[in-house]
Amino acid sequence: MKTFTRLLGALCAAAILATGLPAFAAPDATASLRPAASLPRPMAMPDGSTMKKIQDRGRLIVGVSQDKYAIGFLNPLTNELEGFDIEMAKAMAKAIFGNENKLQIVAVSSAERIPLIKAGKVDMVISTFTINAKRKEEINFSEVYYMSGQKILVHKDSAAKSIADLSGQRVCAPAGSTSAKNILTANPSAKLVETVEFTDCLVLFQMRQVEAISTDDVILAGLAKQDPFAKVIGSGFTAEPYGIGMSKDQPDLVRFANGVLTQMKGDGTWKRIYDKWFGAMGAAEPPRGTYID
Ligand code: GLU
Repeated sequence: MKTFTRLLGALCAAAILATGLPAFAAPDATASLRPAASLPRPMAMPDGSTMKKIQDRGRLIVGVSQDKYAIGFLNPLTNELEGFDIEMAKAMAKAIFGNENKLQIVAVSSAERIPLIKAGKVDMVISTFTINAKRKEEINFSEVYYMSGQKILVHKDSAAKSIADLSGQRVCAPAGSTSAKNILTANPSAKLVETVEFTDCLVLFQMRQVEAISTDDVILAGLAKQDPFAKVIGSGFTAEPYGIGMSKDQPDLVRFANGVLTQMKGDGTWKRIYDKWFGAMGAAEPPRGTYID
């Protein structure tokens, strides 16, 4: 295996020298279906399309989380769902109906996302959903609409500086998340504790039944807001490009969603939503979508 890898390396190097270009461009796992040049007008979805079926049904069914502060959470004061992902869902409903409230929300945990899409119970899942090749074997993703990365939340008195310092310690993440897998990949000596929801991790953390929670930076920022005795450490040790999950049987809906996202990224809507919910994390530009035909 080592010899093979070395041989491959030598071949690549030779090819780069010969052509000035890498011989094998890495496949882009985030590439999604190219949107059409223009979007249909709201309430005028093309006959026979998935969007027309949704229009005729009168509401878009979207799986979101309800326990991620600033992303998808139930505001106890208004009893309304709010956050970055919720605004993405509203934008999709607005593009189909001209009315952002034509939405039926289904609360989903990390592990429920793919099964619900595959069973046709939701049209879309918009829930801090990392695009990766393994998941793409089962479902389709839109283009990237947010670029996150995994970090760690520890108690303020912890001396840990990175995942490497958590050997033998209990680290929490929900089952069915990339976060859970990434913890053990980054530090096989950490003790992974899996829950259903992120708030379950927070409860265990506050009872000191886990020493740390590790997941995407934006989710941790929300958990840290709910716990004055917690701090986020280290720099992101993974890349978590978020996409909207959809069925493999509905590629027209994927192209439509990409059209909406492209529009939002270009006309300032994305930036307004980012600034509103994540602005405290610093300025950001919308991630560029990449496509296949
Ligand atoms: N982005 C990660 C994932 O899709 C963690 C977030 C989550 O589970 O909601 O698995």
